[in-house]
Amino acid sequence: MISRFLSFLSLLVFGSAIGYVWAVIGEKQQSLYLLIGALLAGLFWVLVDAWRGYCVRSWLRQGDLAMAPQMSGWWGVLSDRARKLLRDRERRIAAGEQRLKDFLSAIQASPNGVVMLDANAQIEWSNQTAATHLGIHPERDLMQRVGNLLRDPVFAAYMALEQPVEPVVMAGHRHRVSRPVRISVQRHRYGEGKQLLLTRDVTMLEQAEAMRRDFVANVSHEIRTPLTVMSGFVETLQTLDLNAEEQQRYLALMAMQAVRMQGLVEDLLTLSRLEGSPAPNFANTLPLTSLLAACESEARGLSDTIANGAQTHLIQFEINPSLDHAMLMGEPRELQSALSNLVTNAVRYTPAGGRIDVSAAQEADASLSIAVRDTGAGIAAEHLPRLTERFYRVDRSRSRESGGTGLGLAIVKHVMQRHGGNLLITSELEQGSCFKLIFPASRWRITP
Ligand code: ADP
Repeated sequence: MISRFLSFLSLLVFGSAIGYVWAVIGEKQQSLYLLIGALLAGLFWVLVDAWRGYCVRSWLRQGDLAMAPQMSGWWGVLSDRARKLLRDRERRIAAGEQRLKDFLSAIQASPNGVVMLDANAQIEWSNQTAATHLGIHPERDLMQRVGNLLRDPVFAAYMALEQPVEPVVMAGHRHRVSRPVRISVQRHRYGEGKQLLLTRDVTMLEQAEAMRRDFVANVSHEIRTPLTVMSGFVETLQTLDLNAEEQQRYLALMAMQAVRMQGLVEDLLTLSRLEGSPAPNFANTLPLTSLLAACESEARGLSDTIANGAQTHLIQFEINPSLDHAMLMGEPRELQSALSNLVTNAVRYTPAGGRIDVSAAQEADASLSIAVRDTGAGIAAEHLPRLTERFYRVDRSRSRESGGTGLGLAIVKHVMQRHGGNLLITSELEQGSCFKLIFPASRWRITP
């Protein structure tokens, strides 16, 4: 400010000096010319100053940093300060915008849906997940009342609640009877009358819960049946005066039920071990020949037991000589249990005298297949996709009669999944079935 005053003063002095010199040269009244010189210099200073002020003011109005006027003196300092303030403000705005962008991208990336509603329940913003869950458009439906877009009565009733505590579960936008989609919606109030809707796809969760309920119901049912039979026999033994032969017959029947329960518990434990244990150790190996040999003796033993002196099955195990030194990689116990389940099923579901062929071969894509073929009753096509579900049986009584638990194929499927392999089932009613275990090239090798 002082320099501004000094510059004004020096210009006045300069103007007076010029006026004085002019008066001396023109032999005029010196004091008058001195005053005129000073006045003209002061006027010049005021005009220049006003012009510079005007330049700074029009730049500030535009607010464009790139157009900042380059000037010295007081107005130069002022415009420099203003430029610095503007730059700081722009930086703060850019940082704020970046933060908002990061924040919105984080919500966009969330697996949960987020919808922000204003005080009139109009959509202010929604992420793509919520849009997919609810069937709204994240841009086109902005500022639309959410109640006008979502007509589900469950949702309408939920939105009408003053202070909902629990989330509501309703059918999602892509819900079909054949492919249910269930969405959980939770509402929270925030700010001044604003609301936040959080959506979550709970289809899998509901399915898992339903499966758990079914599983518990199935296990209870499977255990209750032999238990009821056994307690009936116990009661008979306690109340009736039976002779030794009859007693033996009842005890044998009771033993049969006990074996059945034992089988069920063993299969359940196997399944839970498969689900709970870490991935198989593929450094372990099992020679293909010993796997087939163990299953062959098991199949023959079972066939003899079932036949009980009558005609047994025609059982044939065949292995291509090129696979004599083939080794399967993984958990030997699990692999053994998978093939054993298929072979015992073939024996159990094939009438006496039928054929059972087990063969191992290398496929064109270098995978190894072990096929168990039988000439049994076969399975109708509609049952094939569900065979590996727990407790799924085509013929309940046949399965139970032959000591089935309904868990065998579920175990096989699990073992194959854990070993990176596959179970392929083909079957034709009255013609027989073929169950194939496929091991990819990376899960078996031939030892030299
Ligand atoms: P289960 O203990 O009842 O045999 P599985 O899971 O092993 O249970 O098999 C499921 C169902 O698949 C069986 O109940 C049976 O109806 C059918 N099944 C399995 N293997 C055969 C087969 N080789 N031939 C005909 N049906 C079969």
